[in-house]
Amino acid sequence: MTQAVETAPAPTLEERVLRDPGRFRVLTGDRPTGPLHLGHYFGTLRNRVRLQNLGVEVFVLLADYQVLTDRDVAENLGRHVEEQVLDYLAVGIDPARSTVFAHSAVPALNQLMLPFLSLVSVAELHRNPTVKDEIAHSRQSAVSGLMLTYPVHQAADILSCKAGLVPVGQDQLPHLELTRTIARRFNERYGGGGGGAAGGAGVGGGVGTGAGVFPVPEALLSSAPLLLGTDGGKMSKSRGNAIALGASPDETARLLRGARTDADRHITYDPANRPEVSSLLLLAALCSGRTPEEIAAETGAAGAAALKRTVTEAVNEYLAPIRARRAEYAADRAHLRRVLAEGNERARAVAETTLAEVRAAMGSDYR
Ligand code: ATP
Ligand code: MG
Repeated sequence: MTQAVETAPAPTLEERVLRDPGRFRVLTGDRPTGPLHLGHYFGTLRNRVRLQNLGVEVFVLLADYQVLTDRDVAENLGRHVEEQVLDYLAVGIDPARSTVFAHSAVPALNQLMLPFLSLVSVAELHRNPTVKDEIAHSRQSAVSGLMLTYPVHQAADILSCKAGLVPVGQDQLPHLELTRTIARRFNERYGGGGGGAAGGAGVGGGVGTGAGVFPVPEALLSSAPLLLGTDGGKMSKSRGNAIALGASPDETARLLRGARTDADRHITYDPANRPEVSSLLLLAALCSGRTPEEIAAETGAAGAAALKRTVTEAVNEYLAPIRARRAEYAADRAHLRRVLAEGNERARAVAETTLAEVRAAMGSDYR
C-alpha cells in the first residue's frame, strides 16, 4: 500500500507573521516633505499600525536626509518633521511600543552606507525604475549623487535595525530589491553565510543564527499599493494631487470634486482601462469596508459627480476619528519632540549594535 505524502503549502508571509509576531521586526518610513496622505495610509500606515497591534516590533523612520534627493533645500524641515510625528500618532502609532526616529540623528545607521556602497555597481543604481521616475519629477536641474544612491541609504535604514519586514507601497519594491541584494552580498562576503532566511528579524529567529549578519527583508504590500491622486498619477506629497490625512472635510470635498475622471458617464470598476474612476471607487471601498464593484454597481448611471459625493462622504467619515486625535496631539508640540527624542535614542542603540557586528564581520573592529 502506498501512502500519499501530503506536503502542506509553504505558509504565506501573512500566516508566518500571525503565527509568531514577536519574531518579526519592521522598519518603514516616509520623507518629511509634506503632510501624509491617503496613499500613505492605505499603502503602508494602516499596515504598520496593524503589525504594531499584533505585537511586531515596529520602527518608523523620518527620512529627513532624503528630503534633499529631489530638491535643493529642505524647506520647513522642522515643521514637516513635527507634523509627520503628529500624523503617526493620529493614525495609531504608539510610541510606547514603536520607535519613531529620524535617520539624521543616528550616526551608526549612516556609517553603514559606506560598506553598502561598495556592494553595488553604478549600473545597478542607474537601472532602478523608481529612481528614474523620481528623477523625472525632480525639482533639481541635475541628478545628485544622493538621488542615485537613495536606495543604498534606504538599505542602511532597514538593515541598521535588521528589519525583516517592510510594509511599503509599490513604488518601493525596486528599492527593497536592492536592500535584499545588499544584505545577501554582505552576508556572502563577510558573514560566512549565504544570506539568511527572510522574515525572522534577527531577533530570535531565521537570521542571526550563523546564517549571516543581516536578514534578507521582505516587502509587505497592502491591498492598495498604489493609490492614485486627484490627477490620476501616483498620489504623492510633492505632486499637488494628494488628500492629506489632516485636511478639513471641506478641503477634502473640494479636492475630490476636482478629481480627474473620464468621458464614460456610466461608472464601472475597471482598474486597467479606467484608472481614475477605479481609484475613486477603491478609495470609497477602503473607507467604507465594501467592495469597489458594489459601489460601482450602486453608482452606475448617476455618474462621476455622484461617485465623488460618495467618496467624499466615505473619506470624511473614515478620517473623522483620526482627525480628532490629530487635533488633540497638535496641542502639545513638546510631546511630539519628546516622542522623536526618545525614538532617536532607541534607534541609536540598535544601530550601534548592528554597526559593531558589521565592523567585527569586516575585521575592522581593531579600535
Ligand atoms: P514625495 O512626493 O515627497 O516622494 P510620497 O508621497 O511619494 O512623497 P514617500 O515619503 O516617498 O511619499 O513614501 C512613503 C511611503 O508611502 C512609501 O512606502 C511609499 O511606497 C508609500 N506611498 C507613497 N505614496 C503612495 C501611494 N500613492 N499609494 C500607496 N503607497 C504610497
Ligand atoms: Mg515618494
